[in-house]
Amino acid sequence: MTHPAQPKASHFINGEYVEDTSGTPIPVIYAATGEQIATVHAATPAIVEQALSTAKAAQKAWAKMTGTERGRILRRAADIMRERNHELSVLETYDTGKPLQETLVADATSGADALEYFGGLAASLTGEHIPMGEDWVYTVREALGLCVGIGAWNYPTQIACWKGAPALACGNSMVFKPSETTPLCALKVAEVLHEAGLPAGLYNVVQGMGEVGSALVTDPRVDKVSLTGSVPTGKKVYAAAAEGMKHVTMELGGKSPLIIFDDADIDNAVGGAINGNFYSSGQVCSNGTRVFVQKGIKEKFLARLAERTGNAIIGDPMDEATSFGPMVSENQMNIVLGYIEKGKEEGARLICGGKRADKNGFFIEPTVFADVTDDMTIAREEIFGPVMSVLDFDTEEEVIARANDTEFGLSAGVFTNDFSRAHRVIGQLEAGSCFINSYNDAPVEAPFGGVKASGVGRENSKEAIKHFSQVKSVYVRMGDVEAAF
Ligand code: NAD
Repeated sequence: MTHPAQPKASHFINGEYVEDTSGTPIPVIYAATGEQIATVHAATPAIVEQALSTAKAAQKAWAKMTGTERGRILRRAADIMRERNHELSVLETYDTGKPLQETLVADATSGADALEYFGGLAASLTGEHIPMGEDWVYTVREALGLCVGIGAWNYPTQIACWKGAPALACGNSMVFKPSETTPLCALKVAEVLHEAGLPAGLYNVVQGMGEVGSALVTDPRVDKVSLTGSVPTGKKVYAAAAEGMKHVTMELGGKSPLIIFDDADIDNAVGGAINGNFYSSGQVCSNGTRVFVQKGIKEKFLARLAERTGNAIIGDPMDEATSFGPMVSENQMNIVLGYIEKGKEEGARLICGGKRADKNGFFIEPTVFADVTDDMTIAREEIFGPVMSVLDFDTEEEVIARANDTEFGLSAGVFTNDFSRAHRVIGQLEAGSCFINSYNDAPVEAPFGGVKASGVGRENSKEAIKHFSQVKSVYVRMGDVEAAF
């Protein structure tokens, strides 16, 4: 019998599901059991061509509609997503293995927020009038044209919406390629947008591995590429986009610091560290995986952390009581287990976890290492799993220097009750998305993105508009034209 997660077809192009079974089959594995629940096929060159030519043809008429008309469709899509939240959350859980307890509140709902927010902004995307004596200049905020979105596997619905909503609000069309590990949810986003009245051809989804992504990025018809993925992929995609002088947004990896001073509220700090390391089983780009704890409170912090981590409910992700799910794939589980072994070998002190959970599926216990030093592999490389490294520090100056000593710069957090110190420290941390006495909040109203190797550009907020549009300036002369001859 067909599993309910199996989509009608692999791709969504020009307002409908499209199949081409000659593309490489991509199995969809449910991470909680290891069972194959669906199959899609990678896009063939013919499918890629169909998606790009459709998106190119549809864009101009969409950009000519008023912002109010475009926004209305996006806001309707937001309402439909919220109405279908349960069904979409179950699908997100099948796609990623994340517990329903999370997906019910963090995925389709976050996608709906983006559709609502950018739907609301669409009508207010205006230029300005610049007086020049009798003459004047006016500016027009124009769409970029055809945008490509490429997603990672940790938030398939959210990523499809965070890219699609601002792109469409600005009058662009989009071809979106989800991660081959989680191909299901973006198809539903396309379905919802069309149910809300989006004209055919403006939001298309094609499946495939890196080579399909690469075919999209290098196509001369594409004006912009927005990638969520790892730094190595980001470097390749950025270089390929540069070849065609295309706009880019790069949302890449991190190894973010979370700094806990000895005057912090310990339970809030432990809560921040748990949210910043174990939500989505640690598969979150902005995670604060280097937890710097000031020496005086270290043992108290570790004891409370171990106690609370022991309360994680690891199990069936479809049971709403479950608070901790599996890794997205066997491959990711093996990568993370490899890092845990490295942590042990290099002399970090294991506080809790440290192994595969005794279950079917790709579960790893939430793991905490203490006495981690800056040079250890687990403190330098992005693990993308439930592995927290706790490091000690003495002074503010020292911890700022150590926190910044990384190629990454996505996020950073500070816990302290001294507000002037909180702002002073955050002001010196090299990171794009920061938190004071909190961790990992990502509302659509706030800009999100990294500095250094963690990325270029910003998603969400009014900032995202700048990355999906460009400004035309028009000089208007009221008098005669003077010329040298
Ligand atoms: P990945 O880099 O392996 O893949 C990302 C996407 O790029 C996939 O869809 C993949 O098929 C595609 N791709 C691979 N090679 C390509 C190429 N040459 N040209 C075009 N596309 C190509 O990343 P992943 O393993 O899916 O996701 C995990 C990574 O994503 C982590 O590093 C994580 O930090 C990062 N991430 C960042 C954010 C953020 O917003 N900053 C959010 C989520 C995940």
